[in-house]
Amino acid sequence: MNNFQYYNPVRIVFGEGQIKQLSELVPTEARVLITYGGGSAQRTGTLDEVKNALSANGNREVFEFGGIEANPEFTTLLKAADMVNEHNIDFLLAVGGGSVIDGSKFVALVSSFTEDDSKNNTVSREKAWDALLSGCANIDTAIDLGAVLTIPATGSEMNNGGVVNHSERQAKLPFRSPLVFPKFSILDPTKTLTLPERQVMNGVADAFVHVMEQYLTYPVNAKVQDAFSESLLKILIEEGAAVKADPENLETRKNIMWTATMALNGLIGTGVPQDWTTHMIGHELTSLHAIDHARTLTIVLPSVLRELKDSKKDKLLQYARNVWNIADTDLDDDTIIETAIVHTENFFRELGLPVSLEDAELTESAIDPIIKQLEAHKMVKLGEHGKNDLAVSRRILERAVTSKA
Ligand code: NAP
Ligand code: FE
Repeated sequence: MNNFQYYNPVRIVFGEGQIKQLSELVPTEARVLITYGGGSAQRTGTLDEVKNALSANGNREVFEFGGIEANPEFTTLLKAADMVNEHNIDFLLAVGGGSVIDGSKFVALVSSFTEDDSKNNTVSREKAWDALLSGCANIDTAIDLGAVLTIPATGSEMNNGGVVNHSERQAKLPFRSPLVFPKFSILDPTKTLTLPERQVMNGVADAFVHVMEQYLTYPVNAKVQDAFSESLLKILIEEGAAVKADPENLETRKNIMWTATMALNGLIGTGVPQDWTTHMIGHELTSLHAIDHARTLTIVLPSVLRELKDSKKDKLLQYARNVWNIADTDLDDDTIIETAIVHTENFFRELGLPVSLEDAELTESAIDPIIKQLEAHKMVKLGEHGKNDLAVSRRILERAVTSKA
């Protein structure tokens, strides 16, 4: 196992009816900006529940900013940042999924980047863009934020990262800062019952690939991380099928919600190599073709595993054995690995997710623009060995054109 520091200060408040805890969790004198997405928080009544809880005690002043898109848009987020300055907001409360929480983290980081000559505290587009390009690495102040999670998927509720989309520049870029760990996140599994099936399955797949990016590399004898990862993968396989068969089952929803959080709260990624090739190629697919985040991952992951099966051999065999119970000693290693990858594809397929570019109605002609964008975004040394250059990414995408399964 490699050396590591593990720090995660996020208070998780889990369970049905826990939104009422906001009355204690948000500072009583705060000037709060509630951020939310395209309307589901209003439609489902969650927004009202949040506002009622905030007004239950204290002297909070509450403002609202709605309309944060799935794959949160840079320009929308800067409007929220301007609102932060206009109203002297000192607490952001994100009500939604990864897009709203990520977007609010970005707002928390860039709202102090006002124009030097600005009389009305407008946030500088250039400064905010430069910050995003450098992954928000050198920012030393941010507004406090908390989250009410409505879709289990990204782990954003318990980590310090985010991803922001800039449509005009065709860029979807990640950032990270210790300043944006949420102060708390409320996980009420009943809130996930209103999700369309597509979003439920997207969430299961995103969490699955998060685990794979941290687990499926090369062994460093990290027994805790490996065993946790294998458990999370098995739970997602089991509960993915369960939620499809019985979407109203709250116990299933609870397990999916907590699994998705555990998949990317840093724990299984401590002291182990990490890959993230699938995510970085996936981001380009979203920004060029507006494919849902999770669906880009299910398209790319099988081909990453096939293309890199030699350098990932030991872990692929471990994955086959411990996650898919492929233990037939008569099979040769290559067959065991291919069988595990086909099982993975079938699992995605059963959830209604694409496993090839063709499944997403793309052809080989999609590859060149993706490679160009990867180059523009300096995604040229991907993977646990930093050896996945553009030629490797191209081969991955060529494998992804048509599914083998
Ligand atoms: P999302 O984009 O936040 O939401 C997806 C859709 O689900 C939206 O249309 C939203 O509608 C709807 N929705 C959310 N909650 C709902 C509910 N309870 N009932 C009905 N509809 C609901 O989904 P996500 O998968 O959580 O986030 C994806 C983003 O996170 C991507 O940009 C991805 O790159 C990023 N990401 C971040 C991390 C990280 O570590 N921070 C990791 C992986 C991915 P409304 O807009 O109407 O609310
Ligand atoms: Fe993801």
